[in-house]
Amino acid sequence: MRNDLFQEAKRRIDRRRMNQQLALSGRLDEIGQKIPEVIEVRRKLAMTSAEISKLILQKNTDIAAGIAKIEEVNLQLQQKEKDLLRAGGYPEDYLELKYDCPLCKDTGFVDGVRCQCLKEEMQRLSIEDLNRASPLKTSRFEDFDLSFYPNETDPETGQNPRIVMERVLRYCRQYAENFRTDSPGIFMFGYTGLGKTHLSLAIAGVVAKKGFSVAYGTAQDLLRRIENEHFGRVEDAGTLETLLASDLLILDDLGAEFDSPFNKSTVYNILNNRLAASRPLIISSNLSAAEIEDKYTPRIVSRLFTQLVQMRFIGQDVRQLRRQRELERRKNR
Ligand SMILES: [Zn+2]
Repeated sequence: MRNDLFQEAKRRIDRRRMNQQLALSGRLDEIGQKIPEVIEVRRKLAMTSAEISKLILQKNTDIAAGIAKIEEVNLQLQQKEKDLLRAGGYPEDYLELKYDCPLCKDTGFVDGVRCQCLKEEMQRLSIEDLNRASPLKTSRFEDFDLSFYPNETDPETGQNPRIVMERVLRYCRQYAENFRTDSPGIFMFGYTGLGKTHLSLAIAGVVAKKGFSVAYGTAQDLLRRIENEHFGRVEDAGTLETLLASDLLILDDLGAEFDSPFNKSTVYNILNNRLAASRPLIISSNLSAAEIEDKYTPRIVSRLFTQLVQMRFIGQDVRQLRRQRELERRKNR
């Protein structure tokens, strides 16, 4: 898996290099038709390096003087190419090979070490792999229906769910619009079916569209992956690293995962790492505050409740209400 990732990332970078070479040969064809003189200049330029090696093989000549002369001609030719291009309305570096990554010249390696661009590509592939199973595109802010939230005081909290959720929706929209890699983290909690997953996915969609890397998954699924990789049951795909390194991490439905010391310490590890590096994460949970305190260690609980923006979801189970509405519609037909 990890190796597949590497191979695929390398393939993508090789493709970039080939595309740049193709683009250059296209530009060469174009200039060959429009300013053929430039091609002639380039041919002469290519010959000067051959002349230098010829010179070095010759005996009884002043090699230094010869090379200096060739170099002078070389510089003149380079200048001539630039002048001709500019006179023809082209940028003077029009016939230079370009690179997507100048650091490694699109080879993926600098001095035998993996280049940043190769690592980023592997990271992107890993996130694509994680997100393949998630409904990232189906939950948008536009589809969040406030009319499902009762516009009357909720007996349990003494608050009006419609007004509270209007505020929550507004905050989430602004959060997504203004997202930065050091945005605060959010803790969404409240009963099941109140729209936590919907809003966290809506944030993910907007943030990903802005070009940030977003890793999304349910706590249950992600922790199972990490555990299987950790204990060598499957090949290590670097899931934990990917979660820690993504610009935004969304851990959905915390508390539904299997209760084990390994999972607890992994949750703590993720939470602690992201917060220490000031990297945002969004955690959602259907558990009540009391259930969370019951299930997790005090270190986890204090981070959840003091270091993340608290967002309580209230109302009635939207999925249930949606089903009811659908049934009534059918009955009335
Ligand atoms: Zn590179």
